[in-house]
Amino acid sequence: MIAAFYDAKPYDRDYFSRATGAERVDWRFHDFRLTADTAGSAKGAQAVCVFANDHADRACMEVLASMGVKLIALRCAGYNNLDVAATHALGLQAVRVPAYSPHAVAEHTVGLLLTLNRKIHRAYNRVRELNFSLSGLVGFDLHGKTVGIVGTGRIGQITAQIFRGFEAEVVAFDVSPSMEWAAAHGIRYVDFDTLLSVSDIVSLHVPLLPTTRHLLKAQTLGQTKAGVFIVNTSRGKLIDTSALIAALKTGHIGGVALDVYEEEEGIFSEDLSGQVLHDDELSLLLNYPNVLITAHQAFLTREALSEIARVTTENILNHEAGSPFLAGTQL
Ligand code: NAD
Repeated sequence: MIAAFYDAKPYDRDYFSRATGAERVDWRFHDFRLTADTAGSAKGAQAVCVFANDHADRACMEVLASMGVKLIALRCAGYNNLDVAATHALGLQAVRVPAYSPHAVAEHTVGLLLTLNRKIHRAYNRVRELNFSLSGLVGFDLHGKTVGIVGTGRIGQITAQIFRGFEAEVVAFDVSPSMEWAAAHGIRYVDFDTLLSVSDIVSLHVPLLPTTRHLLKAQTLGQTKAGVFIVNTSRGKLIDTSALIAALKTGHIGGVALDVYEEEEGIFSEDLSGQVLHDDELSLLLNYPNVLITAHQAFLTREALSEIARVTTENILNHEAGSPFLAGTQL
C-alpha cells in the first residue's frame, strides 16, 4: 500500500514510521501541501494522508481520482478543507481522526488564557534580561469569573471542566446541548446572545461550518462585555479578523489568544523567520501586547500524535484489506 503524505513535519515522520503496522505502508512523505497543483505527486499511491491546511477541493479530488487514488485519510478532526461531496461523487472514500486527544486541545486552550492573562510570556522575556520589574504585568483571578464555552463537544466539555476547577462560573452554548453533563458539572446552558453578554472569557469550540463562519464579527463582538478575553483554538474562520482588530483598537477587547487564524494556510507550521510577512492583519495582531498567538499547535502532544498515527495507519490498512474503517472515522 503506497500512501502519499502531505505537509509532512519531522514529528509526523517520527510517529507515523513507528505506528503499529507502519511497516506495511509505503509512506511517501512530502513537505509541501496537497493542492490541485501538487496532486500529481500522488501518482502510484492508493491513499493520500492530509492535514488541516491541505487544500482538498473538487479540483484536487479530480486529479487524485484520475490517478487511481482511492482513499483520503485526514490526520485531523476538522474536515472543512475537504470537499466531501466531491470526494463521494468521484468514488473516493474519506476518513478522519475524530477524537485523538481532546485533552491536548483543551489544556492548550487554558494554557493560552493563563499565559495571556498573567502575562507569563512577557515576564519570561523580562526576567531573562534581568528586568525584574512587575509594572504592566497585572492580571485577574479566574476564580469567580464567567467563562462562555461555545460548542460543548469533546473539546469544549473538557475545557469547561478545567475552568470549573478554577471555580469559575461556566455558561455554555451548543446547538445540541448535553444537559446531563452540564448538570453534573454545575454548568448552565444559555443562548448565544446571553453567553456573549455575560462572559468575561469567550472560548470557541465549534467546528467551521457555513453556519459558524464569522461567528464572532462586528455585531457579535459588540455584544461582548467590555474587557472580554477571547480564545480560539478551533478554526480561524470562526472570527472575522478585521472586526477583531477594530474591536482591539477601540480597547473593547481585553485580550485575544489564538491557536488558529483566518488566513493561516501557508503561514502556520512554516519557518518564515527572516522573511517579510505578507499578511498585514497578522502583522498587526502580532504587534498588540494583549494578543497571544500559537501556530495551530493545540493538538501537539505525544499522546495525540500516537493516536493520530495509530488510527490513520489502521484505517489505511483496513482499506487495503477491504475491512471496515474504525468506528466513527468515515466521512
Ligand atoms: P465535536 O464535534 O466533539 O464538538 C463540536 C460541538 O459543536 C458539538 O457539540 C456540536 O453540537 C457543536 N456545534 C456545531 N455547530 C454549532 C453551532 N452552530 N453553534 C453551537 N454549537 C455548534 O468537536 P471537537 O472534537 O470538540 O472539536 C471542536 C473543533 O476543534 C474541531 O471542529 C476543530 O475545528 C477544532 N480542533 C482544533 C485543533 C487544534 O489543534 N487547534 C485540534 C482538534 C480540533
